[in-house]
Amino acid sequence: MKRGGPADLEARVLSADLCTGCGACLGHCPYLKTLGERVAFVHPCSLTEGRCFAVCPRTSLDPDELDRRVLGTPRLDVFLGSYRRLLWSRSLDADIHGRAQYGGTTTALTAFALESGTVSAAVLTGGGPTSFPQPVVARDRDAVLAAAGTKYSACPTLVPVAGLLRESDEAFAVVGRPCQVAALRNVQANPKNAHRFAAVIGVFCFWALAPSFYRFVAAHGVLTRATKIDIPKEGGVVFSNGRTTTVPLDEIRPHIRPACQTCLDPTAEWADVSVGSTEHDSAWNTLVVRTARGQALVDAAVAAGALETRPYPPDRIPILRAAVAGKKRRVMAAVDEGDPATRYLSVSDDTRAAIMAGGRDVQ
Ligand SMILES: Cc1cc2nc3c(=O)[nH]c(=O)nc-3n(C[C@H](O)[C@H](O)[C@H](O)COP(=O)(O)OP(=O)(O)OC[C@H]3O[C@@H](n4cnc5c(N)ncnc54)[C@H](O)[C@@H]3O)c2cc1C
Ligand code: SF4
Ligand code: SF4
Repeated sequence: MKRGGPADLEARVLSADLCTGCGACLGHCPYLKTLGERVAFVHPCSLTEGRCFAVCPRTSLDPDELDRRVLGTPRLDVFLGSYRRLLWSRSLDADIHGRAQYGGTTTALTAFALESGTVSAAVLTGGGPTSFPQPVVARDRDAVLAAAGTKYSACPTLVPVAGLLRESDEAFAVVGRPCQVAALRNVQANPKNAHRFAAVIGVFCFWALAPSFYRFVAAHGVLTRATKIDIPKEGGVVFSNGRTTTVPLDEIRPHIRPACQTCLDPTAEWADVSVGSTEHDSAWNTLVVRTARGQALVDAAVAAGALETRPYPPDRIPILRAAVAGKKRRVMAAVDEGDPATRYLSVSDDTRAAIMAGGRDVQ
């Protein structure tokens, strides 16, 4: 467990505008509150050590330590992390397809985990894409389907986690951004929580938007009616609701959350499975199966007819790696320049050299 107190969290993360909005610290402390995706202490706290500091993914992050602790193996791929299988996948359910962001893999796996009894609850991100989303604890398929679709801001999804750990003994699933997956693994470092996360599903995330994005949307009335937002590889940010409105990416970029500029993990490297777009066919997802638990969930979902998979097209693997490489190299360049926002990272010299050299594997 990482050691530090609320004053350290305030100085190193909150005051420095490096909070990712993950929500992990919030349920642990009555003095921490969130409003409009901002997190703040509302009362001073004199503890010198606290869970708020220990669970935060921005007080420190050591990728090698997380590889060893969560995945139990040295890193297979310097850019994609360790994984057992790299696949394309999609839900086989028409209702899910109608609501999901892409192939609906995330919703299909979550609904399957609930319906098969693997978990009794799932912590998700609900709401629409054009106003502040909210954490949701889903206990049935309808609630899981209602939370489908990407909300492109930093919802503090993990707020209910501390309460679920405290008030029940149930095993639950969590769907989260990569920073949220790292936070969950910090929560799990406490042995009494180790068995509680039965399915940690990470969604790819190269950046999330700050609260100012919703003011931007509100100022452009037509955008508020969108039921889906997508950011295809080319062509700007697409708001759709039957009709589509495309906003140039340059108008959206100023709203990127500051903490996201120094995030080294776009693919949720410590999740049981990670799910992203294919950047090629919007009816499918990229699915990275990382742990034995993730493998068992995917195999069972396929066997039950809830999910379809196919091999990842070999010619597209370099494209996926290049996208991740670009982000990791930008962050490592900021480390080299001494950017204080990167001080939370402990990256070994070998890993750093491999990232900058273009991705020879580190074993
Ligand atoms: C902020 C953000 C940025 C992303 N950027 C990229 C990217 O650059 N490239 C890429 O390939 N993929 C990106 N993704 C992931 C992508 O949008 C899809 O979430 C992913 O591909 C899963 O697709 P699906 O069809 O399985 O989703 P669905 O089946 O529709 O499920 C979506 C799941 O995401 C959860 N969710 C929605 N919004 C959030 C949120 N803000 N925080 C945490 N969880 C959320 C929902 O609870 C739901 O469980 C991003 C996701 C987010 C949240
Ligand atoms: S735990 Fe998450 S929400 Fe809390 S300060 Fe750290 S990054 Fe922000
Ligand atoms: S870019 Fe990184 S820090 Fe920002 S929301 Fe996504 S995972 Fe979290």
